[in-house]
Amino acid sequence: MPQLHAALQETYDAVVDRNPGELEFLQAAREVFETLGPVVAKHPEYTEANVIARLCEPERQIIFRVPWVDDAGVVHINRGFRVEFNSALGPFKGGLRFHPSVYLGIVKFLGFEQIFKNALTGLPIGGGKGGSDFDPKGRSDAEIMRFCQSFMAELYRHIGEHTDIPAGDIGVGGREIGYLFGYYKRITNRYESGVLTGKGLTWGGSQVRTEATGYGAVIFTREMLRARGEDLEGKRVVVSGSGNVATFAIEKVHQLGGTVVACSDSGGYVVDEKGIDLDLLKDVKGVRRARLSAYAEERGSDVTHVSGGSVWDVACDIALPSATQNELDGAAAARLVANGCTAVAEGANMPCTPEAVRAFSEAGVAFGPGKAANAGGVATSALEMQQNASRDSWTFEYTEERLTSIMTDIHGRCLEAAETYGSPGNYVVGANIAGFTRVADAMLAQGVV
Ligand code: GLU
Repeated sequence: MPQLHAALQETYDAVVDRNPGELEFLQAAREVFETLGPVVAKHPEYTEANVIARLCEPERQIIFRVPWVDDAGVVHINRGFRVEFNSALGPFKGGLRFHPSVYLGIVKFLGFEQIFKNALTGLPIGGGKGGSDFDPKGRSDAEIMRFCQSFMAELYRHIGEHTDIPAGDIGVGGREIGYLFGYYKRITNRYESGVLTGKGLTWGGSQVRTEATGYGAVIFTREMLRARGEDLEGKRVVVSGSGNVATFAIEKVHQLGGTVVACSDSGGYVVDEKGIDLDLLKDVKGVRRARLSAYAEERGSDVTHVSGGSVWDVACDIALPSATQNELDGAAAARLVANGCTAVAEGANMPCTPEAVRAFSEAGVAFGPGKAANAGGVATSALEMQQNASRDSWTFEYTEERLTSIMTDIHGRCLEAAETYGSPGNYVVGANIAGFTRVADAMLAQGVV
């Protein structure tokens, strides 16, 4: 592990002591600490006001019981979380994740990343995250609805359009946001459109929100390539995952002239040399909620389905990890590099382990960290909030234009900060510093709160 700047070591040690067992949170925090050395050297005021220590402690953390009844009448108990991490730049903003792996350490890593990501968008949103260890897999619509209602029966008292605005993440999409919004409206007796984002298009949702994370990650990739005098035309791309982020990343790659030859789910991966058939993928994963093996069966003999295994064995020019945290390790990164990969952008949050990030950087691979590359989702959530506040709705074209210019600006901010602080071309350093300084300056201005 790289050494920390002397002014940061003590603060980091205190974070480690304070958050035992929260491995993902400590991993995310460590990565940021490793890049802030030149910032604290230049700006002693951050250390004097103990800004970094304050940034690592959430403003508020809520943990609650979520009881619900399944279709057979059995009572289940899950645990619900909302971590309201930092509101220096705006109300807490960030998604909800429903997945059995969720515990406080996951929610805190996601909330911590969200602070920097949201700052990078340049929009007025603070950072937060929530979720539950509930496993939606195999559950009926009625069970999902009862779970969402029980979750909201507690969450409603903590959120609001000026306080905290949840959205989706893994396991939470349009269906869940609908159930959550309906129940919030019922128990508060308020049609408060701006309390959740990712809503349906006829009831306060924004065009492009569904597509935004995947589209944005590919726009960020296009900008990284452009900075090196390249483009996506004719590039061979591998995407991990096959959920919301992966699906729309594939769509945008195809629109920009690249070919996505492989994608994955928790059961394995498919290799489709002609390019992933998006209509079929959307039907299999989005509508039928089936496995990728069904995609391979229906697409025919040219397609290979590999059960288990690693999608990173498939050679490509560009890799877009868009499934989940720590899905791409140092060994997978070395294989990608050996097979000719020259650019990686994180569609998911922290999908690359620290060893993988190091391997990419040593090999000169253009690497876009999630807090920059996947910020298109939350940025478009902020655009949804703007539309809700003005009781307006924008066209697809206009909203996509806004998203594209936000992603281009984020790319520019990363490069500029990296250059200013002595690591030209390093997007990890650039994203952390550009995000940090925006939040830290707001915290300094607002005093010790
Ligand atoms: N869960 C998404 C993310 O990781 C989006 C959050 C939002 O739209 O608030 O950024």
